[in-house]
Amino acid sequence: MRGLLVLTALFVAVFGKVTFEGDQVLRITAQDAKQIALLKELPEEILGLDYWMPPSRVSLPVDVHVPFHSLQGVRAFLAYHQIPYYVMIENVQVGLYHKNMKMNETFNHIYNLVSKIEIGKSYEGRSLDVLKFSTGANRPGIWIDTGIHSREWITPASAIWSAKKIVTDYGRDPVLTDILNNYDIFLEIIANPDGFVYTHSNDRMWRKTRKPNPGSSCVGVDPNRNWEIGFGGPGASSNPCSQTYHGPSVHSEPEVKAIVDFVKSHGKLKAFVSIHSYSQMLLYPYGYTRTSAKDQVELHELARKAVSELQSLHNTAYTYGSVITTIYQADGITVDWTYEQGIKYSYTFELRDTGRYGFLLPADQIIPTAEETWLALMAIMEHTKNNPY
Ligand SMILES: [Zn+2]
Repeated sequence: MRGLLVLTALFVAVFGKVTFEGDQVLRITAQDAKQIALLKELPEEILGLDYWMPPSRVSLPVDVHVPFHSLQGVRAFLAYHQIPYYVMIENVQVGLYHKNMKMNETFNHIYNLVSKIEIGKSYEGRSLDVLKFSTGANRPGIWIDTGIHSREWITPASAIWSAKKIVTDYGRDPVLTDILNNYDIFLEIIANPDGFVYTHSNDRMWRKTRKPNPGSSCVGVDPNRNWEIGFGGPGASSNPCSQTYHGPSVHSEPEVKAIVDFVKSHGKLKAFVSIHSYSQMLLYPYGYTRTSAKDQVELHELARKAVSELQSLHNTAYTYGSVITTIYQADGITVDWTYEQGIKYSYTFELRDTGRYGFLLPADQIIPTAEETWLALMAIMEHTKNNPY
């Protein structure tokens, strides 16, 4: 007994933590009120008992963590009073050790890796939150946003999966680890929260922001036509009732302005990915002009690679190219603006599908979509890391 206490004290001294080697958790099933009363008489503190489920009613089992040094005494007590029990956990330390190791490892990762920053407020006053994944100060950054068109539900759903993937893979996947040891990743999952709420409360097909338009009964601006690049051109609408209404002025929407301010104040974003649905496309600038981007060859080649990685998983076929040549002319779009700000690797995704379900993509496609998209994102991030500028 004394030897054990000394040993326990030694464990505590060495590891700074109580261990539970040889302790057991017993499940006791009292048969009547008398047995419950007997259990309540056990000297809890002297024996060092820790009730996980204390004795209360006959119908409820009693679970108790019994230290090794009290086991013999407690068992003898139960046997003497003929109270049935069985060993639920054979050795508390064995279960705890592995779980603790894993939990500590995971929590340390998450606490060190992720923080939440607020880059602004939506028109209706909601926080515009961005997850920042970072392992060091003053790093260049990679930006990813989803949900700027609120009805494109697959995009935030995929982003949530990606957030978990980043946390899980850091320290395990060498490529992601290398990326995160050199770059911060910023992830804005709900870039248009007012619209997102509205798709739940009123109109599943709502796309725009929720700011009223003076002089019109129609609400909202297309946050992917509101940027200061080709603003107001024919690839957008001047009609407030249109789905592609560009808004009263450049960056009039607080959801857009918040990103503009963030990009400018950060100053070191090297990749910018804005994720939409649907159509299964990977697009790069420009949308506002047929003039090729100066990095067109490299952007095209990287798009080809990213799309081929994506397709390798579930054989989902993507097309790729510049916005204007692949879908249509679009003026005042996010990635044209970020590209003109000097962010070379500016891309827009259009995720699944090609129109069978459109915006109503079934939930069973969320994970496959997230998984395959992740491969393309990794291709873009890895290329960014390998080609500093
Ligand atoms: Zn969209």
